[in-house]
Amino acid sequence: MEDQLPASPKATTLPATTDVLVVGAGPIGLAAAATLAGRGVDVTVVDRQAEGANTSRAAVVHARTLEVLDTIGAAAPLVAQGIHAARFTIRDRDRTLVPVRFDELPTPYPYALMVSQAVTESVLLDRLAALGGRVLRPYRVVGIDGNDVRFAAGETVRARYVVGADGMHSTVRELADIGFGGDDAGESFTLADVRIDSPLPRDEVILFFSQTGILVWAPLPDGSVRLVAPVDEAPERPRVEFLQSLLDARGSASSRGTVTEVIWGSRFRIHHRVADTFRSGPVLLAGDAAHVHSPAGGQGMNLGLQDAVALGNALTEVIGGAPESVLDAYAAARRPVAHEVVRFARQLTRLATVPAPVRPWRNAALVALSRVPAFRRRLAWQLSGLVYR
Ligand SMILES: Cc1cc2nc3c(=O)[nH]c(=O)nc-3n(C[C@H](O)[C@H](O)[C@H](O)COP(=O)(O)OP(=O)(O)OC[C@H]3O[C@@H](n4cnc5c(N)ncnc54)[C@H](O)[C@@H]3O)c2cc1C
Repeated sequence: MEDQLPASPKATTLPATTDVLVVGAGPIGLAAAATLAGRGVDVTVVDRQAEGANTSRAAVVHARTLEVLDTIGAAAPLVAQGIHAARFTIRDRDRTLVPVRFDELPTPYPYALMVSQAVTESVLLDRLAALGGRVLRPYRVVGIDGNDVRFAAGETVRARYVVGADGMHSTVRELADIGFGGDDAGESFTLADVRIDSPLPRDEVILFFSQTGILVWAPLPDGSVRLVAPVDEAPERPRVEFLQSLLDARGSASSRGTVTEVIWGSRFRIHHRVADTFRSGPVLLAGDAAHVHSPAGGQGMNLGLQDAVALGNALTEVIGGAPESVLDAYAAARRPVAHEVVRFARQLTRLATVPAPVRPWRNAALVALSRVPAFRRRLAWQLSGLVYR
């Protein structure tokens, strides 16, 4: 599908020094770098890959994230390319348990924006380029000694600050000796963008609860639908038959729909983990390097993008002369938010998979709760991220 991530210009050399070295040019590194570049900070972005990723992955951008991206000029081009889903519902097969409306939220973005991660990265890369920045590739960080960062081919860069935006298996986090505590087992997910004949809505995100686990239905701008589900043994490349059986077992019973094509599919294993600290001396963490959790609620990349802009602003202040405590404040403010999002994702998964005898009680309780406007509002604020303003 959207394979339009532009190739980054190849770097000739790394600079000897930089104020901020951003390690990783995923969405979080790009957003942090665009924030810094936009405020006139000397920033260098490196990535170990020769080219940017072009797969779909995270597909939802929430209202709070768009508010934050607007501060770096990246919201408008993104909003123009996605579906504006005004509703989110939790269903048990055909029964709607909780309807959540985003269109009543007090924000310029009263919807969940459905857009592929490849498009999000492309918009952020364009923004960075417009601000005079670029990504230097392929440069793999292998060592950090104080302010000196060492690369696989032996080069070193002296950086006042190093941003670890290098993903779940962050080398920067390991080199800074920052623990990454959480559960060991992890959850295995299948994920696919499919063409599907189905009467289910194309402007609504649906979280189906079922005894065998959740199923997320998320429409995408090209008419395809993103399906995400935790399964015991996710196939490396999910096929039509496999996804059809998931849809039959977990989705709507009356409007089953027929999966006709798998455009892109993958699997991933997610642990619930939060880094022990988001700062150690000159090293700061953001995004998946700092926290990972289940995609229930579609919060992962959103949380990271909010980290990125907050960190970019904090670094700008400190480089401009503010005390280093501003960086500690970043770490202290963002870590509890990560814990809260992990707790919320866990809660959703637990609720989804209650044993059969408890299911009618759960459903009755959720339906009753969803009649309480304050409960529906709270859920809308939580999912949209506005609660973290
Ligand atoms: C298959 C799949 C499906 C997903 N689906 C969803 C979803 O539905 N919803 C959701 O919210 N999230 C989803 N995610 C997670 C989402 O993609 C991440 O939350 C998001 O990409 C985090 O961005 P990031 O920039 O922190 O890290 P990443 O996107 O992982 O980027 C890290 C970058 O760092 C670079 N790097 C790593 N190590 C080094 C090094 N030593 N030196 C230099 N560069 C380095 C890597 O090359 C990479 O480009 C999915 C992830 C995968 C893999």
